Amino acid sequence: MKSYHIAIVGGGAAGLMAAARCVGSGLDVVLIEKNKECGKKLLITGKGRCNITNSSPWKDFQTHIHPDKGFLKNAFHHFSNKDVVALLESAGLPCKEERGNRIFPVSDRSHDVRDTLVKYIKKGGINVVTGCQVLDINKGDNLFTLSLSTYEGDNLDIQASRVILATGGLSYPTTGSTGDGYDVASKFGHTIVGTFPSLTALKPFNMDSRMEGILLKNVRMDLWVNGSKVQSEFGETLFTSGGIEGALGFRVSRKGVKGLINGQKVELVLDLKPAVEMDELNKRVKELSAECGGKLKKIVSRLVPAQMVDPFIDSLPGLNPENMASRLKEWRFKIVGYVGYERCVVTAGGVSLDEISRKTMESKVIDGLYMAGEVMDLDGDTGGYNLQIAFSTGALAADSAVRSISI
Ligand SMILES: Cc1cc2nc3c(=O)[nH]c(=O)nc-3n(C[C@H](O)[C@H](O)[C@H](O)COP(=O)(O)OP(=O)(O)OC[C@H]3O[C@@H](n4cnc5c(N)ncnc54)[C@H](O)[C@@H]3O)c2cc1C
Repeated sequence: MKSYHIAIVGGGAAGLMAAARCVGSGLDVVLIEKNKECGKKLLITGKGRCNITNSSPWKDFQTHIHPDKGFLKNAFHHFSNKDVVALLESAGLPCKEERGNRIFPVSDRSHDVRDTLVKYIKKGGINVVTGCQVLDINKGDNLFTLSLSTYEGDNLDIQASRVILATGGLSYPTTGSTGDGYDVASKFGHTIVGTFPSLTALKPFNMDSRMEGILLKNVRMDLWVNGSKVQSEFGETLFTSGGIEGALGFRVSRKGVKGLINGQKVELVLDLKPAVEMDELNKRVKELSAECGGKLKKIVSRLVPAQMVDPFIDSLPGLNPENMASRLKEWRFKIVGYVGYERCVVTAGGVSLDEISRKTMESKVIDGLYMAGEVMDLDGDTGGYNLQIAFSTGALAADSAVRSISI
């Protein structure tokens, strides 16, 4: 049976970065990916452009990490956003910064990010095995035995003295992220914190389909759970067939989905005119009403985008010039559902952080087993935070595994 020093399970962002950090270690390392190619999810990141990371310093970066920013701190400082960019650039992929400190490849092609990492690890002597699913992992006295199944249906076993579990979560299962790592981790005695879709569309009750495709910029969105305001965000939001998404919808979705799962009353309140005080807006509506001869549709069309005029009027029975300012500043949506794993950006929940060393990413339950990326109960907001979680934890897991063998 073939034996390796380190077996990395999963060739996504975390697994690829773990493999990259093993380059030059002199150890025999294998990366096993069940798809025929590595990094299928990487290809769809950032709408095909791959928002690689976010260049914010830790004090700002950490505010975008859930549920335990402290867990990531060591991994982030061990292999930071700057280190990711340095590694990619040294491997031949120039990067650029855009609005919101978001880092992208200069080519605007996520393919280039994936290909750069794959080329780097292959050139560095890492054994890359694709089209091969890890079905089960068992541990003997010192060695792990991994049971593999190839695309062609052949079964084989390999051994490794260290295993890095980088199998991702459950979002976009067509990319290979189907929660396999949870089964392995729980079999070894790990607790899996309840998973749920995050960075996803929230579905309002009876959303007018004419609103689909409307992008609102510079609006405020408040999330209310059981009658209390729990989050307030400013920016842009998009209405789609899935519901309310875009930057703002995604940002509030973590708490929104959790509220719905807990059976709580979830509402979104949109302020379409956040820069204007209520009194001033009332005055403006009065002036417009006079100009438009009190005609409701005419007044509304001067205040909201054309595509939104009819849905706004129809969804607010009793709308009139007297109450229009308050409706514009407090357009309330009752949220009754959300888009699931099939189209959410990230999985919240996963392997409990209490059972993983934040200094090394090694399991506290099984010696020699390491975790990296979305398989853990760690997720971030949109803006490059999730890939950085994968890269930082993948790097720390690999460096710790290499060090544990070398000493
Ligand atoms: C549409 C979309 C856009 C996104 N855009 C961004 C973005 O621009 N910036 C950002 O920071 N984040 C983005 N994310 C989130 C980010 O892609 C993920 O958080 C990140 O890819 C997680 O990396 P990972 O390696 O932990 O898991 P994954 O990328 O899910 O990789 C896990 C890999 O393990 C493999 N695998 C699973 N089980 C097995 C098994 N049993 N045997 C062998 N292999 C297995 C899978 O096939 C997969 O390739 C986006 C996500 C989506 C869905």
